[in-house]
Amino acid sequence: MIDIIDLNFQGKPAVIASYVLRGPRGVALIETGPASSYPTLKAELARLGIELAQVTDILVTHVHLDHAGAAGWLAQESGATLHVHHVGAPHLVDPSKLLASAGRIYGAAMDRLWGETRPAPAGQVHAVADGDVIDAAGLAVTAVDTPGHAWHHLAYLWEGLCFTGDVAAVHFPALPHVRVPTPPPEIDLTAWRRSLTRLAELRPDQLFPTHFGPVAGEVDAHLQEAAEQLTLAAEFVYRRWQAGESSEAIIDAYKPWIAARALADGVDAAAAARFEIIVPSEMCVQGLVRYFQKRGG
Ligand SMILES: [Zn+2]
Repeated sequence: MIDIIDLNFQGKPAVIASYVLRGPRGVALIETGPASSYPTLKAELARLGIELAQVTDILVTHVHLDHAGAAGWLAQESGATLHVHHVGAPHLVDPSKLLASAGRIYGAAMDRLWGETRPAPAGQVHAVADGDVIDAAGLAVTAVDTPGHAWHHLAYLWEGLCFTGDVAAVHFPALPHVRVPTPPPEIDLTAWRRSLTRLAELRPDQLFPTHFGPVAGEVDAHLQEAAEQLTLAAEFVYRRWQAGESSEAIIDAYKPWIAARALADGVDAAAAARFEIIVPSEMCVQGLVRYFQKRGG
């Protein structure tokens, strides 16, 4: 059985999830959310009748602060093993570079958005590689290297259920609209497309993106839609970037474009606001522009 914790990020429902798996050996969590919602995570665990000491394993898909910001806190307070991509692992033990990088992106909003990130105890961190089978509270969870949104990104597969972090895009329950989070500094479109193909080939029964909740219905259609959105967003930004438009001008064009697409998919104003919280247009454009610059055109 899976419990879905809604971390109520920034007071908004259904933006960031933490998934709870109960196994024979204890409780495993997939994603912790940021430090700013750690009190909510603890309160929701308590509401589910779970004490911190019962949490034996923490799995994070990647080390971005909205996914793993509270991992250090939870590892410290529960004593659980923290499973993370081997490239991301050093950044949870010493988050200084991670925080500096996020600080360049979020500036003065850092504290309000993400709270105080704590280092994870090195002895509790398990650096994970592609294909590793993790003993998560006694359940066998397979790690799937899925770069593209970030180089340090894993999806986790357990009994046909696939926890996809950000690689299989962002969606909200009961809405057909998907949005691809393309923030700086290290998106890679080629790797991302390959990861989406790989996920499809694994034929999971159900997807669980961190933002937010299970994908109901066709897994293949969702993954295809994610790949299409990635291509459309990239083409939109690429054409303007190549024509010499500034990032600001591209952002000004991207916002109404993506809003119109969302509207056409039936997204109302409240859901549109939630998309902008977790997938801000500025960030999506900046990430793509940076990728094209690095690639050299
Ligand atoms: Zn991310």
